[in-house]
Amino acid sequence: MPEKRIIRALATAGLIGAIVKHNASISGAEVGCQGEIGVACAMAAAAVNQIFGGSPNQIEYAAEMGLEHHLGLTCDPVCGLVQIPCIERNAFAAARAMDANMYACLSDGRHNISFDKVVRTMLETGHDLPSLYKETSTGGLAKD
Ligand code: SF4
Repeated sequence: MPEKRIIRALATAGLIGAIVKHNASISGAEVGCQGEIGVACAMAAAAVNQIFGGSPNQIEYAAEMGLEHHLGLTCDPVCGLVQIPCIERNAFAAARAMDANMYACLSDGRHNISFDKVVRTMLETGHDLPSLYKETSTGGLAKD
């Protein structure tokens, strides 16, 4: 694959991440894991869709799906270490990004929920989450 295509896809991923950082948060301590792995999935989904030749609407759709299906994801690392469930969770999110790309490729790019709306919802959901689930390791998997 030409290097230029890879660089453009990485730039697209960076743009998606920057939008979320500016309009919401990419911090597990502020919004839970949806803001970390959820956003990373959206970034990867957008990048791979661009590589697959997606239109701007399809790229946005792939990113939207990548984040939408991580809404509400809590941050509860065991012993406060970014290992369990983080490592496996990243791998699953990478696979999900590929799936989001495939769905977007099979569509014409039209979709009901915009990426901006999912970003707003992610921020609201994150603020509604108890602090137990925001990097404090006092709830969820981290509890035992
Ligand atoms: S669960 Fe792990 S990967 Fe997810 S936000 Fe918390 S520390 Fe980060």
